[in-house]
Amino acid sequence: MSPSDRAWAEIDLNALRQNLLNCQNIAGKAAVWPVLKANAYGHGAVACARVCQELNVPLIGVGDSSEALQLRQSGINTRLLILGTAIDSEMEHILKNDIEVGIHSEMRIQDLGAIASKFNKKLGVHLKIDTGMGRLGVRHKAIPRIAQALLDNPMLELRGVMSHLASGKGNLDAFTEQQNMLFLQAIDEIKCLLPEAEFTSHIANSAALFTRIDPLGDAARTGIALFGILPAGLPQHNLKPVLSLRTQIAFFKDVPADTPVGYDSTWVSSTPSRIATIPIGYNDGVPYRLGLNNDAAVLVRGKRCPIIGRVSMDYCTIDISHVKNADIGDIVTIIGIDGDECITAQDVAAQAGTIAYEICCSIGSRVSRRYVASHISENAPYHA
Ligand SMILES: *Cc1c(COP(=O)(O)O)cnc(C)c1O
Repeated sequence: MSPSDRAWAEIDLNALRQNLLNCQNIAGKAAVWPVLKANAYGHGAVACARVCQELNVPLIGVGDSSEALQLRQSGINTRLLILGTAIDSEMEHILKNDIEVGIHSEMRIQDLGAIASKFNKKLGVHLKIDTGMGRLGVRHKAIPRIAQALLDNPMLELRGVMSHLASGKGNLDAFTEQQNMLFLQAIDEIKCLLPEAEFTSHIANSAALFTRIDPLGDAARTGIALFGILPAGLPQHNLKPVLSLRTQIAFFKDVPADTPVGYDSTWVSSTPSRIATIPIGYNDGVPYRLGLNNDAAVLVRGKRCPIIGRVSMDYCTIDISHVKNADIGDIVTIIGIDGDECITAQDVAAQAGTIAYEICCSIGSRVSRRYVASHISENAPYHA
């Protein structure tokens, strides 16, 4: 077993491609800007960015300058935008690598204008309007001062005006429409104050795109949908999960009734049982909470096998008593398809009391990423 055989994530780049095309289809005339922050939600930013670049996306969103630089150093020359905020010590790299940034206050405009002048480089900026997220972003009444600050800082080029939605339910939540209306007013006001500026307006995330927020804006920033997932409670459309998380049976043993297994002895066999140990734990992205109720499962030879006892840092224990011929080296699926059975990231999230975003992002660095390009049939078994 080489280290990368202990636990691995299979990343299906054809599924990613198909999901991106699906997003573009729904976006119509609007652009789709893939969001590949947090190592592309755990899927591996460089490989995912290459797929996006091949499909000629106009811009890729990232979380910070280290993510942007990683893509630049891997030969990605698509426009890159740091979605949130950049701090001063990141700015030199940002300017030298032509990376765009969000801005969210008059003071930031002054600061970034000064830094851009110092390096004598133009900086593409996206003005973030707070329409209800309450996090980064300028409030509506600050717009006139912001517009003036942009005029005073000619090294800053306004490339976008953006806002971020608070709801994961898109248009199914009335708050989304309220935010979008405020956004439209802000856009109108900025157009009046800065008639020369040519910027892209963007507010939609995956949920907003797939619930057809109207108007959509000039670009949609899609993250989770590219990976074949929509937030809980939304119809899943025809998206294809990109990631499967797998490991293999490293060891098994037969135990008599009344044998405790794992930390705190929270599971005790009621009958003679066959218990397998798998080399994946919470450091690798299997949530600790999956071990709290003895009701989560993994797949072995197409059968659901309960996770028993606590999830530990490097290992889990599963009950394979009912799986005929199960053996050391058998593949164990934490997320993905095995035979007729399937466990989605959403299933794991629901079981662990979290969201699928966190499940994907938590897949550890010890887990190798194996890139595959499946043949996608029109009727893939997910989310019928
Ligand atoms: C992460 C992020 C997105 C993407 O959200 P999804 O729900 O994954 O589509 C869009 N915009 C901003 C500002 C983000 O930080």
